[in-house]
Amino acid sequence: MAVMQCRPGCAACCTAPSISSPIPGMPGGKPAGIRCIQLDEHGLCRLFGDPARPAVCASLTPEPDMCGESREHAMLWLQRLELETRPAPVIGSALAPKAQNRHPPKKRVISRSTCEELPPAGISST
Ligand code: SF4
Ligand code: SF4
Repeated sequence: MAVMQCRPGCAACCTAPSISSPIPGMPGGKPAGIRCIQLDEHGLCRLFGDPARPAVCASLTPEPDMCGESREHAMLWLQRLELETRPAPVIGSALAPKAQNRHPPKKRVISRSTCEELPPAGISST
């Protein structure tokens, strides 16, 4: 079966999800919905091939469900996953009843991010 390729310039998985690992320039990690500081103007990772790149980024692989046919699809899919997998609020807090009614998060490994399959030309760190 052919391996799915990352869509050049999409960068949805470098934007929509939170990343808890330190990233150069973002020592506390990346909040959800914030573009990673290491994305260049073409939506490519400046850290590709660099050991400083978070392991979670290197392990994320494109998947049809996640990537879809457009960046908009991927952003919505990843935003939903982010909501489903964020830590449950403490029981007794105002948010607890909603959390109890929530479907359990779909088990999946967020693995890699953009640019893995992209040519390194023009990327400073590749
Ligand atoms: S792997 Fe991430 S950046 Fe690449 S096409 Fe899929 S959602 Fe977009
Ligand atoms: S792959 Fe690169 S640009 Fe994307 S989130 Fe990870 S460090 Fe940032």
